[in-house]
Amino acid sequence: MSQIIVNNVQKVFKTPGKDVVALKDIQLEIQAGEFVCLLGPSGCGKSTLLNAVAGFALPSSGEISVEGKKITGPGPDRGMVFQEYALFPWMTIAQNIAFGLEVQKKSRGEIEQTVNQLLDLLHLKDFRDRFPKDLSGGMRQRVAIARVLALDSPIMLMDEPFGALDAFTREQMQTLLLEVWRHSG
Ligand code: ADP
Ligand code: MG
Repeated sequence: MSQIIVNNVQKVFKTPGKDVVALKDIQLEIQAGEFVCLLGPSGCGKSTLLNAVAGFALPSSGEISVEGKKITGPGPDRGMVFQEYALFPWMTIAQNIAFGLEVQKKSRGEIEQTVNQLLDLLHLKDFRDRFPKDLSGGMRQRVAIARVLALDSPIMLMDEPFGALDAFTREQMQTLLLEVWRHSG
């Protein structure tokens, strides 16, 4: 039930000397349950568009809406996974995944249950009490994905999430991501 509509979006970055037009006349519609990839050369505006949908940096003109509601900032309905996994280094894997739920003041039992399910789904069970520094890049990205899934955000945005991984791990992660998609929609 989360239809994303990008309507005639422009984004201009004002830099000293010149204006950089990062997005121009962008028109896009994504239906619930769809898995969509934005492809294009470096600098074509992929991150700018994702950041606009996430609400981190709004368009200069045009409008983005989710389920008919205009995006005016970040929200729990849109989770983001970055290329550089942003995990809390002082928290264990389980604590990292639980963080958003703690902020939402979910009950201990509910947090425990969700964290266990996600550790299972993302094949991280043996690492629940380890710290991010003890994990490989692929595992850290799995934690980053688990953290978004924990919040049950209907929309998951990912900006070159596997770009920093080796080819073999990247392929495994792509397969895993499709598994997660089939599982959670
Ligand atoms: P992609 O993710 O496809 O590689 P980006 O969305 O990062 O591309 O960038 C699109 C264009 O906007 C590029 O020309 C980039 O240099 C420019 N740009 C992105 N962010 C900024 C910024 N904060 N200030 C100025 N220019 C920017
Ligand atoms: Mg980018």
